[in-house]
Amino acid sequence: MNGVHEVRVGVIGGGQLARMMIPAAIELGVDLRVLAEQGGMSAQLAADRIGDYTDTATVLDFAREVDVVTFDHEHVPQDVLRALVDSGVQVHPGPDALRFAQDKLLMRERLSELGLPVPDWAKVETLGELDEFIASHNGVAVVKTPRGGYDGKGVRVVRGAAEVAEWFATIAEDGRPGALLVEELVEFRRELAQLVARRPSGEVAAWPVVETLQVGGVCSEVIAPAPRSAGKLADVAADVALTIAEGLGVTGVLAVELFETTDDRVLVNELAMRPHNSGHWSMDGSTTGQFEQHLRAVLDLPLGGTGSHGEWSVMVNVLGGPVEGALTDRYAEAMSGHPTVKVHNYGKAPRPGRKIGHVTATGDDLDTVVYEARAAAAFLQD
Ligand code: ADP
Repeated sequence: MNGVHEVRVGVIGGGQLARMMIPAAIELGVDLRVLAEQGGMSAQLAADRIGDYTDTATVLDFAREVDVVTFDHEHVPQDVLRALVDSGVQVHPGPDALRFAQDKLLMRERLSELGLPVPDWAKVETLGELDEFIASHNGVAVVKTPRGGYDGKGVRVVRGAAEVAEWFATIAEDGRPGALLVEELVEFRRELAQLVARRPSGEVAAWPVVETLQVGGVCSEVIAPAPRSAGKLADVAADVALTIAEGLGVTGVLAVELFETTDDRVLVNELAMRPHNSGHWSMDGSTTGQFEQHLRAVLDLPLGGTGSHGEWSVMVNVLGGPVEGALTDRYAEAMSGHPTVKVHNYGKAPRPGRKIGHVTATGDDLDTVVYEARAAAAFLQD
């Protein structure tokens, strides 16, 4: 690598996560380049290329012009990732780590091997096996497609295997071994997320564990730190995520989604090996935001501090609603009433239910911070 001003990071995927790496890259003097799936995407400000991330030649071509390749999503196929590594490209996170974020069955297997707490689970290949699991778990279970799910798509609570018969059919048609993941229906008090970062040379950093609220399978709100998490819970969550980062050899930011069960256990639900919705608060509420930390980590630079500016940060997602019009049309009302709230706009068309932005409020009184963030988001929402 030459001087810092000449360091180039290539991001595969042009969504809002790539977009939010842009200001952090500008501050650090990093030349950020994005391989976007199509024109007009959220990260178009840095998208110097449009191309298919499943095509090895396209991705190799893009990678040749950067020092490090990283990601906005986890969908780049393993053979493309391996081709990058084989041709000497620095890829963070690398394919060996990323496969555990690409395939929920592999993830469950590996976490179980590492002795980490996960819901009771099984790999099922037939309707009969699935019915057996359901019968031995009080007649109910959660079935997941191992690949390609997001925002709750590919996750279904079932009381009989017949309810997901078409999933078996689809998977078999793809020519892959027709296996689904089935898990116990966890009785959780709340969902938590633990974000950490790890450099290739081994240094790690953890933000405080946060509470996440999902509505209809989509993250709607994050409170940092998670209320009533000081002490043991914070330690356990950080410990689990750091064990995963090290055990799986993750480089960059890692998000570990957790369940806090009604009987006070902490179980791992999901992994994301990139900046994550549960860490957006850190852009405004922490000494080092997750997008800056991700760039530092993939460039193997010393990690930034993870202390918080205020006692509390609350992030509320802004989703596209039924009313047409740009987010900026509603700025005046939201901003005039809530001047301490930070507004983030992803520059996306506001289709209903789509994440088009978020707001973050930070301060020392939780009730005030929650109110401010929710009220500002409500003005922007419809
Ligand atoms: P996705 O990859 O779509 O985000 P997840 O595996 O994170 O899918 O599941 C989406 C949501 O479904 C979770 O946030 C949680 O609310 C619920 N869920 C997932 N697994 C379980 C489980 N084993 N028990 C209870 N609820 C679950």
